[in-house]
Amino acid sequence: MGRVIDLRSDTVTVPTPEMRRAMYEAEVGDDVYGEDPTVRRLEEMAARRLGKEAGLFVVSGTMGNLVAILTHTRPGNELILEAESHIFYYEVGGCAALGGVMVRTVPGQRGAIDPGELEKVIRGQDIHFPPTGLIALENTHNRAGGAVIPLEKIRAVREVADRYGIPMHLDGARIFNAALALGVPAAEIARYFDSVMFCLSKGLAAPVGSVLVGSREWIARARKWRKMVGGGMRQAGILAAAGIVALEKMVDRLVEDHANAKFLAAGLAEIPGLKVNPAEVETNIVRLDVAATGMTAEAFCAELKLRGVLASPFDPTIVRLVTHKDVTRGDMEKTLSVISRMVG
Ligand SMILES: *Cc1c(COP(=O)(O)O)cnc(C)c1O
Repeated sequence: MGRVIDLRSDTVTVPTPEMRRAMYEAEVGDDVYGEDPTVRRLEEMAARRLGKEAGLFVVSGTMGNLVAILTHTRPGNELILEAESHIFYYEVGGCAALGGVMVRTVPGQRGAIDPGELEKVIRGQDIHFPPTGLIALENTHNRAGGAVIPLEKIRAVREVADRYGIPMHLDGARIFNAALALGVPAAEIARYFDSVMFCLSKGLAAPVGSVLVGSREWIARARKWRKMVGGGMRQAGILAAAGIVALEKMVDRLVEDHANAKFLAAGLAEIPGLKVNPAEVETNIVRLDVAATGMTAEAFCAELKLRGVLASPFDPTIVRLVTHKDVTRGDMEKTLSVISRMVG
């Protein structure tokens, strides 16, 4: 059967030989004492890249979002999220369990929140109400199929947030995919937010880690929260070294992942029984509706696995396929022929 084509996620990417060399050679120290030069370099590089004052290396995107929520809010605050957001769906309820924060969701359109709908759920001064403590957006938006939130929609949300004095956090796990699709530097997106989390371990192919960026004062407070949740690392320069290569060498190549996702979507759209809108594939994620095949997403993925292709069941009849550096155009062609024979 040959090698397995793994389209479950861009998290499956393995570190490049250059990353492994950088890890081997990394200069390290105890980062809890602030003495790891490689972690510091990564944090400074990330902050500069996103136009913020300071950065904080964290274990995962989930930890980055949690630390951001803990730093921005107090127990009993309300956190406003888009209804399909990663923080709401896939972060184990950490903000409620560990932050004592209530979540209020707003249904979005392809991941974007309407400013009018947002304004309706912001709490007033009534003595009965919990205070709205934070608004978080996600760009690109995972469950919306890698959808890009355009700058004007972010700006409109920011205007509402400013009117009420509410801070904004960006779950920018895939901010570089969004920046590429929008044709702007990532800092152009980040400027609308008080804090941003982005992942090194997805399309950028580092083995571990995410970075949280914000103002110097805010990051100093976030550092303390990271310690509390057990995220203070010691000779973490070994990991940060791969993150530096990720930022320097792996951002520009995301264009290939977007092209492969488009190619895959266009091919899938031609296969009878499958539904996908290639125009909605803006980055590296394809949402495929398999309902008309009579198969559930679960069954579809199980059948596909027997044929050497891995994908994720996303919803009862929606399959998610993600492109990344460890799959090629040839793999897309092979996937199309495998799926075409499978449903034909
Ligand atoms: C993957 C992801 C995260 C969390 O990252 P982990 O490193 O897996 O914890 C957060 N938000 C979005 C949108 C993601 O896709």
